[in-house]
Amino acid sequence: MFLKRVEMQGFKSFADKVVINFEHAITGVVGPNGCGKSNITDAIRWVLGEQSVKSLRGTTMTDVIFAGSADRKMVNMAEVTLVFDNTNRSLNSELDEIEVTRRLYRNGQEAEYLINRNNVRLKDVIDLILDSGLGKDSLSMISQGNISSFAEAKPIDRRGIFEEAAGVSKYKKRKMESLSKLERTKENIERTQDILMELERQVSPLKRAAKKAELYREKKTRLEEIEIAVLVEDINTINQQIEDAKKTLFNIDAQSTMFQTTIQVHETQNLEAKKEISDLEKEINKLQEELMKIVNEIQILETRKIEFDEKRKYAIEVGTNEEKAKQLQSLVQEAELEYNDRKGRYDQCQINIQLLSEQLSQVALQLAELSQKTNEENGLLRRYQNRKELLESLLKDPFNSQAGVKAIDDNKNSLHGVLGVIAQIIQPQVGYEEAISVALGGTMYNIVTTDEEAARNAINFLKKNQSGRATFLPLTVLQTRYLS
Ligand code: ATP
Repeated sequence: MFLKRVEMQGFKSFADKVVINFEHAITGVVGPNGCGKSNITDAIRWVLGEQSVKSLRGTTMTDVIFAGSADRKMVNMAEVTLVFDNTNRSLNSELDEIEVTRRLYRNGQEAEYLINRNNVRLKDVIDLILDSGLGKDSLSMISQGNISSFAEAKPIDRRGIFEEAAGVSKYKKRKMESLSKLERTKENIERTQDILMELERQVSPLKRAAKKAELYREKKTRLEEIEIAVLVEDINTINQQIEDAKKTLFNIDAQSTMFQTTIQVHETQNLEAKKEISDLEKEINKLQEELMKIVNEIQILETRKIEFDEKRKYAIEVGTNEEKAKQLQSLVQEAELEYNDRKGRYDQCQINIQLLSEQLSQVALQLAELSQKTNEENGLLRRYQNRKELLESLLKDPFNSQAGVKAIDDNKNSLHGVLGVIAQIIQPQVGYEEAISVALGGTMYNIVTTDEEAARNAINFLKKNQSGRATFLPLTVLQTRYLS
């Protein structure tokens, strides 16, 4: 590798651009002390990545920038470029000429490195020159102080210097690095093998766990499907129950309307019967008044009979016998006529009174029957209305009054083995709803479960949530009974 050229501008004593071409095997730079010869090697080391300010003979890195002189102003940037001939490809690049540049600004901006005018990192510069044997610490550059240290060095240290110069130490160093890398790799392999063994040990339990997890996933999916199917079934059943209840309500409404109509008819009939009774009573009063009149007339007749008897006595005592007989005969005829007339009317009155009394008692009986029927129908209507209200409230909010039953009913899908409440399970034949509900009584709110375990689980649920109480009927402990 051959350093063809060094270009410096603003570096230490080189304020203006200075180009030094190295065209022959040996190039000498001659000049008085302090003229700036060593600044050239400083420049070369600087480009090759020198970071030590001390070895560059300064106190800060910006000391390498031209600081000004008696007749020149200072500059703000130092730039040095090394141009290498790479025709023998000693640098790892396909180009015949390689330019390496370092630039530094006074304002503290980061230093710039460039290879062939492209911005690169310091590491790229070091990587480029590493294999060439060139470097800021290599023996390619030997400064004034180095000579005496070589001469005074111990043989063993001197061997190091020769090895360094011959490029052996570079390989030695690489060998050491490779060996330690190998060692680290071996350790890594051992560690990896340990980890592999440990992982292999974990494989079969993991396989078992994976199988279990797979099984769990399948069962869970199946459970979800079943739960959805149960929910759909429940929704259908509830919808059916709502439909049935609506039908029952409709029937009750129809029956209520029918009863109300019948009651109205009966009430009209009642009114008519009452009017009939009052008419009859008026009639009876009239007849009684007539009877009283007849009785009076009878009294008058009695008086007249007495008068008549007096007259007869007088006729018998006073007139001739013929006159007396005639007189008596006409009196008797008169009396007979009058008596018969009065007697006939009296008898007719008695018969009328008898008839009207019978009619009156019949109407009173009818009235009593009608009143009883009206009362019964009112009672029935009330019962239907109560049942309707109950059904409506059950439809709106089932088991509202039974907190425990309600809590179980609301959560029956998450509680296994809960089959439902008796009131929901039993579907009475239309017309027997009330009878069945009375016969069931409080049992209506009992909850049917598949077995005792399910009942216990539900009771624990109620206890845990303080949701109230409920009675459970596990199917496994129920016995079948038949009614004769
Ligand atoms: P010797 O043979 O005595 O070692 P030399 O020829 O090698 O001397 P150098 O030591 O390279 O000379 O140069 C030192 C000179 O560079 C000094 O004159 C110094 O003033 C000048 N110099 C160093 N840094 C700067 C700077 N930043 N700006 C201006 N001049 C500088």
